[in-house]
Amino acid sequence: MSDALDRLLVEIRACRACEACLPLGPRPVLSAGADARLMVVGQAPGRKVHESGIPWDDASGRRLREWMGIDSDTFYDPRRVAIVPMGFCYPGRAASGDAPPRPECRSLWHPRLMPLLPNIGLTLLIGQYAQAHFLGARRKRSLTDTVRSWQDYLPTHLPLPHPSPRNVGWFKANPWFEGEVLPTLRGRVAALVADDGAPADVCRSGFSRDR
Ligand code: SF4
Repeated sequence: MSDALDRLLVEIRACRACEACLPLGPRPVLSAGADARLMVVGQAPGRKVHESGIPWDDASGRRLREWMGIDSDTFYDPRRVAIVPMGFCYPGRAASGDAPPRPECRSLWHPRLMPLLPNIGLTLLIGQYAQAHFLGARRKRSLTDTVRSWQDYLPTHLPLPHPSPRNVGWFKANPWFEGEVLPTLRGRVAALVADDGAPADVCRSGFSRDR
């Protein structure tokens, strides 16, 4: 399983399938290990992440790790956390914010990637694109309603708002999120990333800069 995943990650990182639509060119950013029990599905890398090549290497990532109650070493350990966005490359800008993830990316790679991650016990669905795909008709009318119905999707999925600083207004308007959702999120994450004794240096993703 691990060899197959390693081969697929090499194939993904060489992908140029939608190169013509990517303003800065392909740079797939994802991280996954066959033993991971927690998966983070976001939208697509932003420009800063495109430049660093490190997923969630920005203010949104710092808030996400705070929500999850884990440090960078744990977050970037693919043995514990698979980081698999809906689109793997920076899609450029739209009228407001970043463009949507390239749709061909998910359909091209997720069906091959997900079977190689058989131990995932919880998938964090961050933002509308991940929620639309993974929840389908079970998604509510708005992101707020979907996140407010978070208990409907456990134990396998947990919908979250995007932790972007642009959403500070949403966080303030919905204090139940911090009071009700985050304690459950932290408890589930702590259980799923608990150290199983494997030597960490064997499993590092290669994201080595200070975080
Ligand atoms: S966004 Fe996805 S499909 Fe497009 S080049 Fe990057 S990895 Fe390939």
